[in-house]
Amino acid sequence: MKKITGECLCGLIKYEITGRPFRVANCHCDDCRKVTGSAFATNIFYKENEVNVTSGELKLFEHKSDSGSLMTKRFCPNCGSQIFAENSNRPGVISVKVGSIDNANFVKPDVNLYTANALNFITIDKSTENFEKMAPIK
Ligand SMILES: [Zn+2]
Ligand SMILES: [Zn+2]
Repeated sequence: MKKITGECLCGLIKYEITGRPFRVANCHCDDCRKVTGSAFATNIFYKENEVNVTSGELKLFEHKSDSGSLMTKRFCPNCGSQIFAENSNRPGVISVKVGSIDNANFVKPDVNLYTANALNFITIDKSTENFEKMAPIK
């Protein structure tokens, strides 16, 4: 499989992905909206060891999810682009924000999360697996 690359807006942070995503989730929760500054987040889940930062050093911000787990957001200290996130409930897993990937047209969301929180102008794709809140961890 071709190597996937990504970077932040200013180019300080660069990374490579060697594996395949095991889940692609559109998340409509309030946290994802706040942190991305957009209507929802598209989070692509990989095994942590398949994602390698090749340039720059990310800054992190930690907060609690509604289930009480520790969420870690990693972003560029220079331009603020959000790149990765982790959840203490899912050790060894990292999610990548779709907007940071260089050629992201291979990405196909397979699930929508927190559809109960989706903004009124969003149309939820009925062909994906959809959950009103969080999906069971897998
Ligand atoms: Zn940057
Ligand atoms: Zn979310």
